[in-house]
Amino acid sequence: MRQLANARGVSGQEEEARDLILAAIDGHVEDVRVDALGNVLARKPGAQGAGLPRVLVTAHMDEIGFMLRSIDNDGLLRIYPVGGVDARILPGLRVSVGPAGVPGVFVWKPIHLGREQRTVPLDNLRIDIGASDRAGAAAHAKPGDMITFPGEYMTIGDEAVRGKALDNRAGCALLVELLQGDPLPCELLVAFTTQEEIGLRGASVVVEALQPDLAIVLESTPAHDLPDLAADPDEGIAFNPSTRQGAGPVLTVMDSRTIVDPRLLHWLRATSEAEGIPYQLKSAHGGGNDAGAIHVAGRGVPTAAISMPARYVHGPAALLRVSDFEHSLALLRAALNSVSPALLAHD
Ligand SMILES: [Zn+2]
Repeated sequence: MRQLANARGVSGQEEEARDLILAAIDGHVEDVRVDALGNVLARKPGAQGAGLPRVLVTAHMDEIGFMLRSIDNDGLLRIYPVGGVDARILPGLRVSVGPAGVPGVFVWKPIHLGREQRTVPLDNLRIDIGASDRAGAAAHAKPGDMITFPGEYMTIGDEAVRGKALDNRAGCALLVELLQGDPLPCELLVAFTTQEEIGLRGASVVVEALQPDLAIVLESTPAHDLPDLAADPDEGIAFNPSTRQGAGPVLTVMDSRTIVDPRLLHWLRATSEAEGIPYQLKSAHGGGNDAGAIHVAGRGVPTAAISMPARYVHGPAALLRVSDFEHSLALLRAALNSVSPALLAHD
């Protein structure tokens, strides 16, 4: 997880994350290939031979970030956002620019120069890499360069980890762990996908290549368990979060792109309950993930999503509880150990 979270891989430039994944799954899967959109596809044969259900499990490799758009005369860099980025968090943040990881900082006005601070639109933000003019900056950075938050993954206390890109390198790590484990009673098809953050693009082509009977998408999703910071703390915190950290894997019921197949949702819930694994349900909070592209691909694929709740995703310091990772892995393993063709029978 440390290596994966620290790897740089903005949508469309996932090579660094992909190389780590290819090395980690080597020897544990067959038919490994990188497809035309950069997805890693592979197959882990089942423990019991032919005729097994073909189960696709996916995790997206890309992370949100920025692309260098142009360089101003004063040497400051203009950017495009890649994926959903909140401009309010950026001023003053450190970034890493281009293949060499040139250190930079988002331009901001220190408090000494006035207390009146406005949120600057993304289009107007600049990155300072310490150059005096355009030529000085151009020696170190070029239009098209990928820009990420620096990788500063760490364990915090006994319960949590912190890092950039936990959305969705945590899902990638989950899938790598699954593949490194024992064979399962299903034909496990695998896709580490590209370009999820800009519209589920990599995932759009994997069903055609792998022809699964059903699919499970592994994701990270925002934990909605923060209090209203503007409220009077003496009034207490009255809120009912849809997802909270430490409460186990999040099973999507519905989001803006997908209504999860009810047979698969029932299967995941029943498996959790039988195994004593905590879980939580998420409904209609907007958002979406690769399930949105996968379930309507080909002739349609029954699809579910298992997500790990994490705070501060799409920022430089997301927080994830280790227990949520472990419970997600336990649920995934238990579910795949119980998969059978009867799962998809209609009543
Ligand atoms: Zn994600």
